[in-house]
Amino acid sequence: MVNGNGKPMKSRVSGFHELSADEKLELIRKFADLTDEDVELLRKTGALDMHKAEMMIENVIGTTEYPVGIATNFLINGRDYLIPMALEEPSVVAAASYAAKLARPRGGFVAESDEPVMIGQIQLVGIKDTKKAKEKIMLKKEEIFDIANKCDSVLVQFGGGVRDIEVRELETSRGKMIVVHLIVDVRDAMGANAVNTMCESVAPLLEEVTGGQKRLRIISNLADRRLARSKAVWGKDVLGEEAIEKILDAYELAANDQYRCTTHNKGAMNGIDAVVLATANDFRAIEAGAHSYAARDGKYKPLTKYCKDDEGNLVGEIELPLALGLVGGATKTHPIAKIAVKIMGVKSSKELAQLVASVGLAQNFAALRALATEGIQSGHMKLHARNIAVIGGAETKEEIDAVVRKMLEEKAINASRAKEILGELRK
Ligand code: NAD
Repeated sequence: MVNGNGKPMKSRVSGFHELSADEKLELIRKFADLTDEDVELLRKTGALDMHKAEMMIENVIGTTEYPVGIATNFLINGRDYLIPMALEEPSVVAAASYAAKLARPRGGFVAESDEPVMIGQIQLVGIKDTKKAKEKIMLKKEEIFDIANKCDSVLVQFGGGVRDIEVRELETSRGKMIVVHLIVDVRDAMGANAVNTMCESVAPLLEEVTGGQKRLRIISNLADRRLARSKAVWGKDVLGEEAIEKILDAYELAANDQYRCTTHNKGAMNGIDAVVLATANDFRAIEAGAHSYAARDGKYKPLTKYCKDDEGNLVGEIELPLALGLVGGATKTHPIAKIAVKIMGVKSSKELAQLVASVGLAQNFAALRALATEGIQSGHMKLHARNIAVIGGAETKEEIDAVVRKMLEEKAINASRAKEILGELRK
């Protein structure tokens, strides 16, 4: 990290964004001592070319790739779906497909989702009589609707727009505040840009009406009016009564212990994030919303529930906010995301949310079942063995296959053994 004069380079780079991608790369090459090979790899973009990438974010020097796998066997609301998942972790796609297969004999997943309604927040401070201000805002409801809807005639054309407003008073250490909620139907968009624009546009009228001053004007990622739910029954003939008892014990641990509950929910997010990423949706928004929803009663709880039905079968359910779009953001500009949507054949953001919730439930069930019975490491490590072989230094397909075979034979799947086996092979 030294420049031509042997001095350390600074990260303060003025005008970086004005450089071409090649010039940016050259600067990064010098900063980080990248090799020619590193630079070539960064230049080598795939379906998402440099031009499209530069349309999405700032200061682009390359793109990165994730494997896209297809989760099979999903039967949701009586329809068969193949579901693309983008992620780096082995065994997730296999586990989701397996859980979906085990759910099929009892009809697969029954899923539903709320109308695609988001909440925009406008914060107002410096109001003396917040009660009176609240009344005044409610009297201006129609005018507020009008201003907001005028911001997005396309959304209104598609049947969306403001549905309601709410006014909340908050006592804070910096005095009383008012938060106005704009309740907006965003149809097939995730909705953040649409709602943020509306919040900004109505804020001046709210200031005028209340005599207060606007502060924040932004969407809430706790999309608790846009919940998706899915339910499945795994038969006792498929799982066995003993496994069902063990799964219920495992679930109780999550329901009563935050350390386990976090990992329990991570299991569901493995599936959820992977579909969200495959469709180039905003996974940070989904993550923030999911965990906030999990803690909505002041205690962090599982996103899924499990119980036995009258016949002793295992019933699993999931419920979480899913603010997903089929238009807007990067969903229509990322070429692979567009194909992912085509593969699923979903026609609305509501339908996409139903699929994502079902994958989340399947993923969570698969992890619980494996953990409560044989443990996850045997299956996981088998699938992870190829990565371990690469970490151990295997380069060609032949080397990787040979190292994996030997590690599996010996039931010793770790990087140091991979290195030793490779050493023996190369001799
Ligand atoms: P957007 O503004 O790119 O597109 C949505 C627009 O598409 C709508 O406003 C509407 O005008 C139009 N549209 C066309 N057909 C439509 C249809 N059938 N249904 C609905 N709208 C239709 O996207 P967006 O969804 O408003 O915002 C999503 C982006 O905002 C994401 O990239 C997200 O990462 C980003 N973002 C998120 C946050 C947050 O989550 N806190 C904050 C800021 C920005």
